[in-house]
Amino acid sequence: MLDSKANNSLWADSKERFKGKSLDSNLDFDVAIIGGGFSGLWTAFHLNQIDRTLRIAIFEAREIGFGASGRNGGWASSEYPVSKKTLIRKIGLASTERLFAALSQSIDEIGKFAGKHAPEAGFKKSGSLYFARNEGQLRRLEEKSEAGEWLSKDSLRELINIKGALAGRFNPECATVHPYNLLQGLAKFISSRGISIYTNSWATRVNGGILASSFFVRAPIVVQATEVYGDKNRSFIPLYSLMVATEPLSKSVWSEIGNKERFTFAENAHVINYAQRTVDNRLALGGRGATSPFGSILQESRESNEKVHKRLIDLAKSWFPALDDVEFTHRWGGAVAITRDWEPYLQFDGGFGKLGGYAGDGVTMSHLAGKIMAQEILNIKSDLRSLHFVNKKIREWEPEPLRYLGVNTLIYLSTISDREEELTKRPSKINRFIEPVILR
Ligand SMILES: Cc1cc2nc3c(=O)[nH]c(=O)nc-3n(C[C@H](O)[C@H](O)[C@H](O)COP(=O)(O)OP(=O)(O)OC[C@H]3O[C@@H](n4cnc5c(N)ncnc54)[C@H](O)[C@@H]3O)c2cc1C
Repeated sequence: MLDSKANNSLWADSKERFKGKSLDSNLDFDVAIIGGGFSGLWTAFHLNQIDRTLRIAIFEAREIGFGASGRNGGWASSEYPVSKKTLIRKIGLASTERLFAALSQSIDEIGKFAGKHAPEAGFKKSGSLYFARNEGQLRRLEEKSEAGEWLSKDSLRELINIKGALAGRFNPECATVHPYNLLQGLAKFISSRGISIYTNSWATRVNGGILASSFFVRAPIVVQATEVYGDKNRSFIPLYSLMVATEPLSKSVWSEIGNKERFTFAENAHVINYAQRTVDNRLALGGRGATSPFGSILQESRESNEKVHKRLIDLAKSWFPALDDVEFTHRWGGAVAITRDWEPYLQFDGGFGKLGGYAGDGVTMSHLAGKIMAQEILNIKSDLRSLHFVNKKIREWEPEPLRYLGVNTLIYLSTISDREEELTKRPSKINRFIEPVILR
């Protein structure tokens, strides 16, 4: 089963491929984890860091890296899907600062791990930049203080040459990674520590453990780390995020663009977009804008929406005219899991745990959530366990057709508003209807 790629992303072209075991008998473990993405692997990693004697197994339905962890934009950021301002209002300043400090610490711990065990991930903590190209974006950027230090047009130009950029904000708390290689390195490392990783092993929770590939695996503790592939109920919706990547760009193109440091960057539009200069000098750019499926049922066909891929390519070329004659060699996509209040979930009841719902900020958050899950399982005293999202009740999304209509109307209006701001260079009139809902 290792003949085909784990998914159709640029990242999965990598020669790094972890080969998991096949399950061929009933087994017995202390902890069984369903899902071989960052959430599952970091949970196993942290459990093993605390107690080396624990018998842990991971069951992955496909290959390691099949899911979002092997296809994402590679921003290991300290971003949280809800804004700092809203969080301060909801949970207070001290709890908000504790959360952001924990996220920053996770970036550094991922970096330490990658430096030692996954050098192919090209981890580089060189910050992230948001920039504005019209008055609407500029006004929102002025209010987005968590995006970091203000950069004037001229200081921005010294870092990166984006056509029409008016100003930016730079946050040093972000790293760029090759996510798939980081995940493969993590799989290799935990496997060398005695953690069993079974691939092509679809698993489901049953009384006393799990059923995987028709075998019974006894385990008093089961963790569900399947994020967007999890149970179809109203606890989250899938939103598709699509990506494109260029061929490796020449030195002359990069000297025109800038970004020597490989910081991640995005235009401050309503429809989320995110870019990185890859470790092999390509531009990889992603963005939302594809509609959400009715009934929240995943549809592979939505990963290759031609219109959205073209919009991303046009966006890249509008930033950097030097890309006009460059080939975009890769197009792919995947879904992110969004909860009703846009916060991640992490729940453990003594025998069963689940974690996810990172809303597109899962690279760093899965490290933090995996660490907290390990502490919950082993009942370790820790401040992290009192972070506000831990064991918080999950609010349900509205039933269909309300959520389909509501979510897709917002996606549609956000796209129109961005287009209007791009053409008029002024804040869109639609903003007063959509911003109270989408600027969380
Ligand atoms: C295109 C895209 C771009 C993104 N960009 C960023 C970014 O730049 N920065 C960021 O922080 N986040 C980003 N994200 C989000 C981030 O990638 C995810 O939040 C994170 O990877 C989730 O990790 P996970 O381990 O929880 O889930 P996944 O990586 O999806 O892993 C879940 C795994 O569970 C397996 N599985 C499902 N059901 C079963 C079953 N029954 N039995 C066994 N295995 C099963 C799946 O095959 C899958 O491999 C992006 C996501 C996408 C799709």
